[in-house]
Order: sequence, then structure tokens, then C-alpha cells
Amino acid sequence: MAKKTDPILQLIELPFVRDFLTQKGGENAIPVLKLVLEMGNAVTDEQVAEKMGVKVTVVRAVFNRLHFWGIADYTKTRDENTGWWTYTWFLVKEKIKEAVLEELKEREEELRKKREELDQFMFFVCPEGHVREPFEVAMEYDFKCPECSAELVPLDTDAEKASIDKELDDIWKAERILAEI
Ligand SMILES: [Zn+2]
Repeated sequence: MAKKTDPILQLIELPFVRDFLTQKGGENAIPVLKLVLEMGNAVTDEQVAEKMGVKVTVVRAVFNRLHFWGIADYTKTRDENTGWWTYTWFLVKEKIKEAVLEELKEREEELRKKREELDQFMFFVCPEGHVREPFEVAMEYDFKCPECSAELVPLDTDAEKASIDKELDDIWKAERILAEI
């Protein structure tokens, strides 16, 4: 039987989730997050650094930033012989879920508004790129560009709509994954 992929690992594959977590944890956040999960969600910064082939300070910086956002946390244990503390880091999955969900709702709202606007209004543009106006304003110009007098043409919004729909689709995908966490 195939091992089920950790939902967080699936989430990390979505572009806007990657962007969001990179914003919070810095440019190395994604490789660190992935390794922590792959290593059983209980690791020391030294173990992650060794696997990544980077300095331990690089990994520590990511953990500290993620800790600030509540996305990562640690337990510490003391070695009886040496007296040294060992920090074992883990990801707070519930917090990742919460943070991503919040981000997702905001983005979804934004996209829906933009989509509605594209559906509701018809825009006219100058072929030379001088103006982009709604129908009512274009009519006042008698459908001639106020700058170069070229005939204004209806804006083709299909590509824009398709890209919004693709992103909305990714958001719904993420919502389905989040429901499993
Ligand atoms: Zn023009």
C-alpha cells in the first residue's frame, strides 16, 4: 500500500502556499519545512543542516522566524553528562493550517471581486496602449483614443479570467487538503 503523503507536504507544493511560507520563514523555509516533515517532525537544527549541506546558523534562522509566527516550536532536553541542552524542533501543523486558511480566504475574496469586475464591466482599450476605459467612458470619447484618435477596441479579458480561475482552482485544492489536517 502506498504511503499517504503528509497533507502539509501536499500543501507546500501549491505556489501561493510556498510564497506565503517563504515570506514568513525566509528563502530557505521550504526546504527546511520539507526536511522536518520527512524526518518525522522531530529534529535538531544540526540534523537539518547536515542533510541540507548548509551552515547550522542558516537553519537556526529559519526556525527562529517560524517560531516567531508559531509555525515551529521546540522541546529542550539536557544531557546529564555534558550539561548541554538539545533543542528538538517540530512543526505546529495546526498553526500552519490556520495561517494558510486565513491567507487563502483573503486571496479568494480578492480574486472573486476581480473576477466579478471582469464579468460585469466591458473595457475598451487603445491598440497603442494609451487608455483602458469602461464602456461608458469609451462612449463619451466616441470610441476614439483621446491621445492618438485610434479606434478603441473591446479588451479581451479571456486570458485574465483563465488565470484567475486557475488560481481559484488551486485555492479549492488547498481547502480540500486542509480539511484532512
Ligand atoms: Zn491611443
